[in-house]
Amino acid sequence: MLWQPALDDDYLRLTPAELGARISARRRELGAKLVILGHHYQTDEVIQHADFTGDSLKLSQLAAGQVGGGGAAGGDGDGAKYVIFCGVHFMAETADMLTPEGVRVILPDMSAGCSMADMADYEEAVEAWGLIDAALKGQGFKGRVIPVTYINSTAAIKAFVGQRGGAVCTSSNAQFVMEWALRGGDEPLKAGERVKVLFLPDQHLGRNTSAKLGIEVATGTVVYDPRKTARGEPLGGATPEQLMSATTILWAGHCSVHKLFKPEHVLAIRAAEAELPRAERTKVLVHPECLREVVELADLDGSTEFIIKTLRSAAPGSRWAVGTEVHLVMREAAEAAKRGVSVRILSECQCLCTTMYRIDQPHVLWVLDELAKVELGVKGARVPNVVSVHPEARRWGLVALERMLRLSVPIELLGKGGGATGGAKAAGGGAENSGARGSRGGQRARGERPVESATAAAGVAED
Ligand code: SF4
Repeated sequence: MLWQPALDDDYLRLTPAELGARISARRRELGAKLVILGHHYQTDEVIQHADFTGDSLKLSQLAAGQVGGGGAAGGDGDGAKYVIFCGVHFMAETADMLTPEGVRVILPDMSAGCSMADMADYEEAVEAWGLIDAALKGQGFKGRVIPVTYINSTAAIKAFVGQRGGAVCTSSNAQFVMEWALRGGDEPLKAGERVKVLFLPDQHLGRNTSAKLGIEVATGTVVYDPRKTARGEPLGGATPEQLMSATTILWAGHCSVHKLFKPEHVLAIRAAEAELPRAERTKVLVHPECLREVVELADLDGSTEFIIKTLRSAAPGSRWAVGTEVHLVMREAAEAAKRGVSVRILSECQCLCTTMYRIDQPHVLWVLDELAKVELGVKGARVPNVVSVHPEARRWGLVALERMLRLSVPIELLGKGGGATGGAKAAGGGAENSGARGSRGGQRARGERPVESATAAAGVAED
């Protein structure tokens, strides 16, 4: 976890209403110089200040669009020059990779990490790569391993994947990206060649996606646990034979929020409604970061955007139990209630993303106050909490991101300059494609260089 200095008591003494008013006032002062992004899992207090809401990739693409595509040369196109990302650290890294270099991406609380992303460490991934390769060669494997990483991963892991012919995926397109990998990725399969996918860091998304592709979970997937390797177990607890038989090698990471949903939560709903006509029963809708057993029992599973779309188009009178982060579910429940749709969370446990919860109004106001000082030229003032990805990690991370973007979105979203391979950070995606809550006119971004945060700089070593 990155270190975040404590805020002055003044911030903590303000009421939510006072904080909200002061944030709004600062917003007016700073005008179009900044854009605030709010991830779906944020609290309502934070979301009310967001220009855009969405999932991590959509927000990063929107950020790239809002800053005006100044390009890698310095971001001097029209648009915001500060992006305040109310999400978690890996999301701010992705936004930094997709925006021009003159744009500062700010995480209001540096301790807002993601437990899942933290479960895949670059050095451990390099070690696993070598061990898996040696074990497969020992088994006479003729083929390639292509790494795929969920976007919920560090910039260093995205770079690890990009450097080895792999791609990033989201929960919306994981199936599509895995199919691409199994076809050989960017290098078509040769006769007799086989491909295995190393899926990082979420074993559940990897397992659920494999099952959707018809891969037999028991024999066609195997878990590699780096903690077991660290404890001296060979191959992260897998055997060479299991690796040889598997199509998908699953990294042993998980989301600490989604793993709280259990099969018994679904079964309890089913039991309570066993006497009801089928059409009146509660439908269970879950995110694919949930356990395989939960997804198997659910009526529907899909990404955050899929969940939102499904609930917003649900028929009046229908009832839904949703297995994902509580703030999103409660917000959708309030919206749905106006249309006569009943939405509840699948489990009564506190299924909230505690790290994202660290972003709150006091931290947002503190960031805006510091930016105002910078803009006024106050001596000693500096842009706070800049998340800046190391150039080498950016280069290869963008390769992995662009492979995914080419597979899943119109090519114009890749923006000017051809992205990583062309040396430019990608830009594009506009408010018209989004869940925009409003957009403002552009502001000329200046050619400032981002401050390299030692902790945020995800260095990539050659393996
Ligand atoms: S909900 Fe899970 S995967 Fe998403 S940011 Fe929080 S810990 Fe990470």
